[in-house]
Amino acid sequence: MFDRAVKFVELPEGLGDQIKACNSVFQVQFPVKLNGRIEIFTGWRAVHSEHRLPAKGGIRYAPKVNQEEVEALAALMTYKCAIVDVPYGGSKGGLVIDPRKYNADQLEQITRRFARELAKRGYISPSTNVPAPDMGTGPREMSWIADTYKHLHPTDINHIAATTGKPVSQGGIRGRVEATGRGVQYALREFFRHPEDVRHAGLEGDLDEKRMIIQGLGNVGYHAARFLSDEDGVKVIAVIERDGAVVNERGLDIDDVARFLRHFGGVRGYSEGRYFENGTEILEMECDILLPAALESQITVYNADRIKAPLIVEAANGPVTYLADAKLRDRGVVILPDIYVNAGGVTVSYFEWIKNLSHIRFGRLERRYEELKGQQIVEILESLLNKKLPTYERKAFTDGARELDLVRSGLDDTMRAAYREIREKFYSREEIPDFRTAAYAVAIKKISTSYIEMGI
Ligand code: GLU
Repeated sequence: MFDRAVKFVELPEGLGDQIKACNSVFQVQFPVKLNGRIEIFTGWRAVHSEHRLPAKGGIRYAPKVNQEEVEALAALMTYKCAIVDVPYGGSKGGLVIDPRKYNADQLEQITRRFARELAKRGYISPSTNVPAPDMGTGPREMSWIADTYKHLHPTDINHIAATTGKPVSQGGIRGRVEATGRGVQYALREFFRHPEDVRHAGLEGDLDEKRMIIQGLGNVGYHAARFLSDEDGVKVIAVIERDGAVVNERGLDIDDVARFLRHFGGVRGYSEGRYFENGTEILEMECDILLPAALESQITVYNADRIKAPLIVEAANGPVTYLADAKLRDRGVVILPDIYVNAGGVTVSYFEWIKNLSHIRFGRLERRYEELKGQQIVEILESLLNKKLPTYERKAFTDGARELDLVRSGLDDTMRAAYREIREKFYSREEIPDFRTAAYAVAIKKISTSYIEMGI
């Protein structure tokens, strides 16, 4: 995908190779004593690029994670950050583990040991490498990792910025948990603001009543599906999960499905829809929007020809393989690529990191001041009009922005601006075949400018 896009960017000889290469990768094997037995764990942290620091990206806990995957995901982070103008390099970590097989105490022991191994070799630090949640990890793990870093560097005043995606009480930021899902929603809204692009996908109108299939109701999928159905009128007609899929053409209640999933660990037996054991077949069902939000390589050469969705929105990292991507493009399927669509997570991570470095919550200084100013405007308006404003109009003036409002506004602005940039690139050159290539070209251009101006 990189090679296809790099042809559309003018670069000094060799720079493309440097941008593409993964700068470093560290593999570690470490022992943890669990219930009197020693278990050995294997993990990686890859730094794909350091043209901006810190390098940023999640840590994944999965039974099948490997070095190549971690390096590829680190590369995606580099391009993702460039696209949304988040001033970071790209990094990613992985630990071979099935987190469901361990209790919280054991996971804490394992996570702290992994964090120590990474931190002592410079693979965790607020200034050079900042992890975040990914598959199998969440706020809890980020809190343990940041605390481990603090113990190793007790005099680092910015220790809390060693990870992002922490619980709010531990220096996290409001809106981070749902940020990737929100970003997906903002990306789709922006897409539907461009009728030409919507027509390009063979669709029309806005998001309301669009039929969507979602794969994966994890942190990303759940929030994206819930926001899109509750706030934009999207009809989720199928949810694909680990143990199969549940389908209801009239639309599924996402919160209800999620509750069932939490309780029973799957969708089998959910009564408000038809159950299909072979979930991946449901990817091929007719719909307007297909939203893969689970694992990579879900749409491959084996099923690409049967995919009926005219629009694929990559909420997961790498859900469509390179060869499948080409097949889909030939059939005119529009794909909004992962390096744009799921960049909301790292965008809000950036806000969290800034909050941590400035040691103050966004809005803390100005909120009441804004309210006071709004109050004064309302009073002037009311005296000029000689009547009281209705409560909702008053509120529009007098509510100062809370941290969550600012996070949402910053994220929305970021997703809109990035879409417009990619779109401009796509329409500016006839030969650019699709949005993904345009997105990569935008990212490569920005990274190359950074290298050229900085010097090598
Ligand atoms: N793991 C997320 C991703 O793949 C978030 C990374 C971050 O916030 O640093 O984008």
